[in-house]
Amino acid sequence: MPTIFSHALIPLAAGAALGRRRVAPAIALAGAALAVLPDLDVIGFRLGIGYESQWGHRGFTHSLVFAALVAGMFALFWRRARSPDAALFLFASMALHPLLDMLTDGGQGVMLLWPFDTTRWFLPWQPIRVSPIGGRFFTTRGLETVWSELLLIWLPALVLLWLAQRHRRARR
Ligand SMILES: [Zn+2]
Repeated sequence: MPTIFSHALIPLAAGAALGRRRVAPAIALAGAALAVLPDLDVIGFRLGIGYESQWGHRGFTHSLVFAALVAGMFALFWRRARSPDAALFLFASMALHPLLDMLTDGGQGVMLLWPFDTTRWFLPWQPIRVSPIGGRFFTTRGLETVWSELLLIWLPALVLLWLAQRHRRARR
């Protein structure tokens, strides 16, 4: 995985870029939480669930079906998430997590198409250094991860945010 900070950044930056009228701050925050949620599956390691299992890390929680189910639950139980736009934003926030993981250069691929297909997918281009599991950031490996994420996720996200805000200001 990229670090959880980078996963959370994307919905927050997207929400800020689209503006609070289109994406309410509460929805952007919920999107950030959902973008991190799939990696709670690392608890499987403690529970003795192997990496290769569909119930383990990068298994079912990293699928499009799971993202749709969770976004659907939010829409069902949270009035604010009931509009199609909000539900779609929450789904996209969560679905981007496995797509980002598919750009990393280590671990196993993600079960994007679970439960229909338990193939573990990667993208052909994997420029992001995989994050060490367990938060060991202050190692050479951890610093390489942080550096690759700053360059490949934070920099483009902040540039897009800046461009979107400039564009909105120019339209006013
Ligand atoms: Zn992940």
